[in-house]
Amino acid sequence: MINRFKFDLHIHTCLSPCGDLEMVPTKIIKRAKLKGLDVIGICDHNASENVKAVKKAGELENVKVLGGMEVTSKEEVHILTLFDEDEDLIGFQKIIYENLHGVNNDELFGYQLVVDENDEILDTNNRLLIGATELSVEEIVEKARSLNGLVIASHVDRERFSIIGQLGFIPEGLDLDGLELSARYVFGKKNLDFPMASGFPLVTFSDAHYIDDIGKTSTTFFINDVKISEIKKALSGEDGRKLEMQN
Ligand SMILES: [Zn+2]
Ligand SMILES: [Zn+2]
Repeated sequence: MINRFKFDLHIHTCLSPCGDLEMVPTKIIKRAKLKGLDVIGICDHNASENVKAVKKAGELENVKVLGGMEVTSKEEVHILTLFDEDEDLIGFQKIIYENLHGVNNDELFGYQLVVDENDEILDTNNRLLIGATELSVEEIVEKARSLNGLVIASHVDRERFSIIGQLGFIPEGLDLDGLELSARYVFGKKNLDFPMASGFPLVTFSDAHYIDDIGKTSTTFFINDVKISEIKKALSGEDGRKLEMQN
C-alpha cells in the first residue's frame, strides 16, 4: 500500500567541519520529529561515521534514517549518495577515503566529531573532509550505483559546488536519480521548474548545517516503504509512486 512520507535527505552532523557542533543525534532527531519528518538522510562531507549513531537515535523516536555521504568530486561538485545497507555504505566509504587526501586543520575548517547515539564524543576524524576527492563526477555516480546507491546532484541552483555551477552543464548520459534544489531557490520560486534540469526529476532538501534548518524544505514521497528502490520508482514516476516538493 502506498503511504506518504516526508523526507529531508540532506542533513549534516558535527562530523562535517562546517556542521554546527549542536548537530548531534538526539538534537537532529528531536528537530526532525518537530518538523514532521518521517525520513531523514545523514550526508556528511565525504564521511559517514555518524550514520550509525543517528540511526540508533532515530529508532527510539520512530524517525527512519538513511545513511550516505555528500561526496566532493575532483571538479568540486557535490553529489549526494544514500544507501539502504550499511555494508554498501561502508564499501563506498572505503573508496572515498582511498581517493581523499590531506589532514584537517580544525581551527581553520572546524571540528569533525564522531559521536554515539547519546551525543557523547567518541573520536575525531582527522581527514581533510572539506577537501575534494580525486574522483570525477562520473566515477562517483558509477561507484555509488554499483553499490545500489541513490545518487542526486546537490543544490544544482547554487553557483558554488553544484554540477551546473562547476561544470556549466550536466554531462550527457550521467546516470543521476535526480537533482536537488536548495531552500533558497524553492522559497524564491512559485513555479518549481528548473531551466537546466534537462528532464531529471527534482527534489528539495534542507542541506542543514544547523538544527533550525532541518526540514526547512522537504520532499514528500508516495511509496510503499522506505527503500532506495521505492524512492527511485517515485523519482521516475513508476507504478503509481510519485513525489511532491514542498516548502
Ligand atoms: Zn553541498
Ligand atoms: Zn550539504
